[in-house]
Parts: sequence; structure tokens; C-alpha cells
Amino acid sequence: MKTRPKTIRTAERIIQTVEVTEGAGVTVYRSIGTPALRNLDPFLMLDHFGSDDPDAYIAGFPDHPHRGFNTFTYMLDGHMQHQDSMGNKGDLNSGGAQWMKAGSGVIHSEMPQQTEGVMSGFQLWINLPANAKMSEPNYQEYSSAAFPIVQEKDSQVKVLLGDYKGTKGPIEDPYTSVSYFDVELNSDAGFAYAIEKDLTSFIYLFEGEAEIEGKTIPLHSFVILSKGDEVKITAGDNGARFILVTGQPIGEPIAQYGPFVMNTQEEIHQAMADYRDGKLVQQKAAMIGS
Ligand code: FE
Repeated sequence: MKTRPKTIRTAERIIQTVEVTEGAGVTVYRSIGTPALRNLDPFLMLDHFGSDDPDAYIAGFPDHPHRGFNTFTYMLDGHMQHQDSMGNKGDLNSGGAQWMKAGSGVIHSEMPQQTEGVMSGFQLWINLPANAKMSEPNYQEYSSAAFPIVQEKDSQVKVLLGDYKGTKGPIEDPYTSVSYFDVELNSDAGFAYAIEKDLTSFIYLFEGEAEIEGKTIPLHSFVILSKGDEVKITAGDNGARFILVTGQPIGEPIAQYGPFVMNTQEEIHQAMADYRDGKLVQQKAAMIGS
């Protein structure tokens, strides 16, 4: 049997994030979900929020709807409370994370519970396949201690979603097999990770500097990795910290209007009509995990 030579993923595209005002006036740095990158199947949006100025986050995200996809929020610093129109409540603290399957519909708020200090983290939107868009919503929420950390010689990997070299995170994604790691590298350390060939993958560098196959990755860059078997990342002199995310593309048409992401324009009109008529929320979301 002939073995195919291993292909190394390169930095196919490096995108500088765009500053966007969201919610009631919160500053976020958006990469996926901008004119430069509408989506990256199965991912629909990536926001990095991070500020030590309360004016930039205090207003939070009051009641707003979602339908047709998942949101995954990873809190690096701070305290945010989540509340939905069906009475579910949850707290996100430093290092914790929440997966919300909006499915057929959720109306919720995401509000800071602090008036000073740093609040930072990421929110990623992950699409659902057509057959799950109108499925029952649910939440999987865990505090920091629930996410395993794999300590290697020159690196530390926190497993938020998926499986890192046999260490599995607590959250289940039955639709797009998303893996999501928070990777910290010591100065000049190398990091190599095998990724299934056809998965979409990206990194977002939020501390330090890095290099991928000869390309310098500046701080706050969003990097789309080319298809391939493995990614190799080298940290700069002051180390590097990034999220590495992979997922199975869905390959279906996307019709999007703000927080409604469906397959057809007709389904979008239905979502807007349902929201207007107070029928967006059809089922109470179940709480899974703690
Ligand atoms: Fe939301």
C-alpha cells in the first residue's frame, strides 16, 4: 500500500479583526462574520471581547433572539450572567464556558456582573445542519475546573471542546465535531497537532506572537489554516497564546439575517414573523451539565 505524504497546514489567510459595536454598546473585535469573511463553514461568527474599561462592556447584551445555530462562549476574565425568556439562568466566570444550542429559538440576555476590572473572552457561532435547525434548544455550561488541561514540556492546552490527544472536554457537539483548544506556548516553543484532513480550522492569536510555516502571525490575527494533515506553530520570544478551532463543514446553503441563520430566505421570513408574533421560542431549553 502506498502512503500519502503528510501535508502541513499553512496560514492560508491572515485577517486583522474589525472593531464592531454590539448589544447595547459593547466593543467587540470580529473576524468571522465580516464583509472580509462572511462565514467559514461551519463557523458563522467569531467575536473577541476584551477590555478593562467598564464603559466598553457594562451595557452588555440585553434580550435578543437566536434561531438555527449554536453559540459557544468562552470567558477568559470576568463574570457574565446569562438569562433566557424561559427562566433559565447561568453564570459564566473566568475560565468557564457555555454551549447554547439555539435550535428552534431562544431569547436571552448576556449581562456583565461587574462594574470594574477586565472582562474578556470569545463568542463563536457554529451552524447547525438543516435537520437540526428547528430542534429543541439546550445549554451546556461548565465552570473552569471542568475543562481538562494537558501540560506538555513547553505548552499548556486547555480542552474546551473535542478531544486533544485523548483528553476530552465535557461538552458534546453531535453535529459538527468542533474541537476548541486554548493553547499557551512558552517562548520559542514549537507546537504540532494532527488535524483530520478535511476539517475547517483556524487560530486566533490573543497573546504574544507566532509563526506558521515561515509566516509571522501578529497579535490579534485571525488565521485560516489551509487543508492538510497537521499544523505546526512556533511561538515568538514572549511566547504565544491562541485558540485553535476545528470543525466539520456542513456544506448547505446559508440564509442569514442577524441572529437568525437558516437555509432559505423563506425560513428567515418565518423566523422574523415568529419573533414579531412572540412565537420564536417554542420549547424550553434544557440545561445539560453544570
Ligand atoms: Fe446571544
